[in-house]
Amino acid sequence: MSRPLQARINLSAFDRNLHVVRRCAPESKIMAVIKANGYGHGLKRVAQVLIGNVDGIAVLALEDAICLREMGFRKSILLLEGFFSADELPIIADHHLSIVVHNQIQLEILSQAWLPKKIDVFLKMNSGMNRLGFKADAFHEALSILKSCAVIHNITLMTHFATADDEKGISVQFLSFNSVVQGLHHMRCLANSAAILRYPDSHGDWVRPGIMLYGSSPFIDKSAEELGLQPVMTLISQIIAVQSIQKGESVGYGATFVADRDMRVGIVACGYADGYPRHAPTGTPVLVLGKRTRTLGRVSMDMLHVDLTDIAQAQVGSEVTLWGDGMSIDEVARAAGTISYELLCALAPRVPVVEI
Ligand SMILES: *Cc1c(COP(=O)(O)O)cnc(C)c1O
Repeated sequence: MSRPLQARINLSAFDRNLHVVRRCAPESKIMAVIKANGYGHGLKRVAQVLIGNVDGIAVLALEDAICLREMGFRKSILLLEGFFSADELPIIADHHLSIVVHNQIQLEILSQAWLPKKIDVFLKMNSGMNRLGFKADAFHEALSILKSCAVIHNITLMTHFATADDEKGISVQFLSFNSVVQGLHHMRCLANSAAILRYPDSHGDWVRPGIMLYGSSPFIDKSAEELGLQPVMTLISQIIAVQSIQKGESVGYGATFVADRDMRVGIVACGYADGYPRHAPTGTPVLVLGKRTRTLGRVSMDMLHVDLTDIAQAQVGSEVTLWGDGMSIDEVARAAGTISYELLCALAPRVPVVEI
């Protein structure tokens, strides 16, 4: 048998999470976000479930968009950062891709372009996040330039919320967006997962779910389980060695963990080169044989250590769940000072992926 670490992908959980999106936003079309290799789950793998079930898919890379067309997806495909140079436009038009237009340079290129087919655009407003988009005072002008472009077909109005997941909420940005787009007869696209779950008023014509599809919570104060979401990825490994240590002995690089009693320590085949966060401190939760315990000491490149003192049955070969089914990735991420998004995207290519 080979190294026991694997990422198990449960596509029926993905499909059920998609139903949660639909239940939360029954009036909106769904633009499923599968950037970053489907948040680490595999672009084609998650796309298979989406084809036939959603009206749109959003990615970053032109190659990913083309891959989706080649898989037979015929509905909207949105490039979230738009295009970067004029030579992409014929390819975009040819594959009937939609683009986010967020800056002046893109507008100028579009104004001068001639293409045999027209392109659908999502015009992005910077309503306060200050990342991409035209500020309120420049938005109308950008819209009128786009309308005069020979190569533009439908225009959807879009913005992105910075704080839909926390107590600051969306109200400032939502008001700003609404005041600018008031009276304009274009479709609207605003809500990420957090806004889909918490702010029904913001749903508009298109919603853009990402993290909720993969079964994680966008919120600190509400778990995925409470939201009815199920983990799609479970990262599983095994104990490959057991050490008995005495009070006063240490574990791992830097000897950062020192035992305050005699202990049994399990060595797990999973390290930071697999995507497990090196920042995860002693005490990060983990399951061994389905029982909750904690990591000990520093995470190594290929291994980490877990406390087996109270799990007498655990031995070499015992199953370890790093995150996923039974072990919330949101909890692991929080312990490591990050968010589930980063852990999912960082799953290393060397980890074998199996569909269950
Ligand atoms: C990533 C992304 C989303 C999805 O966000 P989640 O928090 O994962 O739901 C939506 N819109 C844009 C513009 C994004 O970049």
